[in-house]
Amino acid sequence: MSGGKDSIACLLHLIEQGVDMRKVELWHHDVDGREGSTLMDWSFMADFNRQLAHAFEVPLYFSWLKHGFEGEMLKQDGYSHPQCVETPDGLLTLERDTRRSKPATRLRFPQVSASLQTRWCSALKIDLGRRALNNQSRFLGTKTLFITGERREESANRARYFQLERHASDTRFGRKARLVDAWRPVLDWDESRVWETLERHGVLAPVPYRLGWSRSSCQSCVFNSDTIWATIAHYFPEKAQRIADYEQQFGTTISRDKLTVLERARRSRPFEIEDLAALEQATRPDYTLPVFAAPGTPWVLPAGAFRSEGCGAS
Ligand code: SF4
Repeated sequence: MSGGKDSIACLLHLIEQGVDMRKVELWHHDVDGREGSTLMDWSFMADFNRQLAHAFEVPLYFSWLKHGFEGEMLKQDGYSHPQCVETPDGLLTLERDTRRSKPATRLRFPQVSASLQTRWCSALKIDLGRRALNNQSRFLGTKTLFITGERREESANRARYFQLERHASDTRFGRKARLVDAWRPVLDWDESRVWETLERHGVLAPVPYRLGWSRSSCQSCVFNSDTIWATIAHYFPEKAQRIADYEQQFGTTISRDKLTVLERARRSRPFEIEDLAALEQATRPDYTLPVFAAPGTPWVLPAGAFRSEGCGAS
């Protein structure tokens, strides 16, 4: 559950299919970790997921890499930090096996690429999900469906995904049988079907879409277009500045044309954000807006719906 429209649509689809919701739990990955970094993600995203889980009465478990994206990016001749996974039995801390890997240096942003070798931020999330399944005995001897909300329409890369496949953590034929399938229920959905589903359940569009974003990914996603950077630089200038400072420190920009995010921002014009409640929400860590539209009020399609402005992983 990223907190974006597609993973919410997955949850709603389960409800519509009559799934026993006592068997469902949400997993959310905190991109910035829990140690104080605020470099990448929307400030309210963790709390929004909490409110969402509460509203649907399903448990929510967070996972994060200690020191988050920023800590991994600043790795210098060292090892990645431990991974943390909330479970029904408490917090799991998964240490790194330093005998099997060598110290390494990043000191650069993930590359804007479909390859998870160089787009390491997505690889971190996927690896953490796999280890979270591998390291909980409650998944042994049982069947688990790991559900994610990618859609083919989002990119040429996602267009090639399978809708159903064995998850990387699956060991159904092994000594300790763990059956885990990965299912992408909204893979073939178009965007209008996603919004119609949210509207049917009265779930308000999440804040990023209300601000004009077409995807709900990290606020400072490496895939952001010039217009998104112009919007961030205008409304959240300190966020854009911190990314640009790192680009200068590393001597490597996110974009291949060697322009910092601030230089790219100057090449475009920001969105004119009219939803002031959403804008105010974007500055605070506690989620104070409702999850559902108030009874009797119309459900509103957000400004970012059906836009193609680049943001979010491919
Ligand atoms: S949203 Fe963007 S920056 Fe964040 S993890 Fe995904 S690809 Fe990386």
